[in-house]
Amino acid sequence: MPADPRNESGDAPATRDQSRIPYQLPQPTAMMPDIFLGQVLDLDADEQSWVPQAEGVWFKPLILSVSQGYYVNILRVRSSGILSRHRHSGPVHAFTLRGRWHYLEHDWVATAGDYAFEPPGETHTLVVPEGVEEMATLFHVTGGYTYVDPHGKALGYEDVFTKLENVRRHYERIGLGAGYADRFIR
Ligand code: FE
Repeated sequence: MPADPRNESGDAPATRDQSRIPYQLPQPTAMMPDIFLGQVLDLDADEQSWVPQAEGVWFKPLILSVSQGYYVNILRVRSSGILSRHRHSGPVHAFTLRGRWHYLEHDWVATAGDYAFEPPGETHTLVVPEGVEEMATLFHVTGGYTYVDPHGKALGYEDVFTKLENVRRHYERIGLGAGYADRFIR
């Protein structure tokens, strides 16, 4: 008896729904592994994931892309006042999660739920206003930025590599080992 060309649902094989079938081929050679970090927006969980950066300032790394020169992190500030004045070489995307902050050079104030784009080339001075107990903002930072005085004189710099060094030092210090930082590197 010839096989019935129809499947159990009665559809002809040619029209069988393929939408639930995973991709069947190998991923491309040299493709980087993905990253999955659960509950990163739960800002009050997993205190040791916050890397100290300065007095009252921490960041939580999500990805440190040494291959493309960008990083994504959540910055947490628990002090008010001037944080830093810096000049960006690449674009920044900022999603405010908690608290308030602004730049001396702009008249907007970022609050939870707000998005800001910082164009490459811009120099600005980050302020957390008085009365804000905690500010948390997810920053996607491409390139680096240079710390400058009010007249643009370079005082220091930050980029994915200085971030990585900071992260490695943190995990070494808390006993997980510097290699723990590898999970963020792509
Ligand atoms: Fe900035």
